[in-house]
Amino acid sequence: MSDCKFCEGSGTVECFFDGPSVSGFLTKAKCPECNGAGVVDAEYFQRKERGKDLRKDRVSRGESLFDCAQRLGISTEKLSSMECGRLSE
Ligand SMILES: [Zn+2]
Repeated sequence: MSDCKFCEGSGTVECFFDGPSVSGFLTKAKCPECNGAGVVDAEYFQRKERGKDLRKDRVSRGESLFDCAQRLGISTEKLSSMECGRLSE
């Protein structure tokens, strides 16, 4: 495990909250990257970077998520998860 770079290990991030009945204000929210834990497994960010590359390659080929998943013989959900770094290859 290593400190989450997104919230710098605090587990919370500042975000701007704006709703229909309230005016916008800055609030602390649970970090979406580590889910409030402040730590992530060491490979998380590497996986995320790989996923970003994956998506960039696909987009540069003009391929849709669906077409790419079909070509690879995997589900679109799985490919989407891989591109988001939630799943290892
Ligand atoms: Zn975090």
